[in-house]
Amino acid sequence: MAAEVRTGGCLCGAVRYSVRGDPVRVVRCHCTDCRKESGSAFTVFAHWPVDAFELTGELASYDRRGFCPACGSRILDTSDVDAGGAFVEIRLGSLDDAPFELTPERETWVKRRESWIPPVDRATQHPEG
Ligand SMILES: [Zn+2]
Ligand SMILES: [Zn+2]
Repeated sequence: MAAEVRTGGCLCGAVRYSVRGDPVRVVRCHCTDCRKESGSAFTVFAHWPVDAFELTGELASYDRRGFCPACGSRILDTSDVDAGGAFVEIRLGSLDDAPFELTPERETWVKRRESWIPPVDRATQHPEG
């Protein structure tokens, strides 16, 4: 059976990507960097093997955080790959399917979590990273 392929991209459509199969981990992070980069209260991201990932279009980047230079949508983080790792980190809000129905199993920097946001059911809780 063929692995599921998910597609995603930026708001303006100049950057498109696909990921094949399920991610190896899904995380919600409330850290101050994630808040700043997203303009929101947290990010939700997942790691896929880099060979299960395909990108079309040009990304700009800041500190290994890739975004569309035209519309500013955050797409990914290449910290792991750049350090010789095997995983690309995708910002799940950039997936086409909404809801994307991938549930975080890990929640980090919960000491920065807004008091009105409940913990994710069954996700491990980490005060910091
Ligand atoms: Zn764009
Ligand atoms: Zn974070």
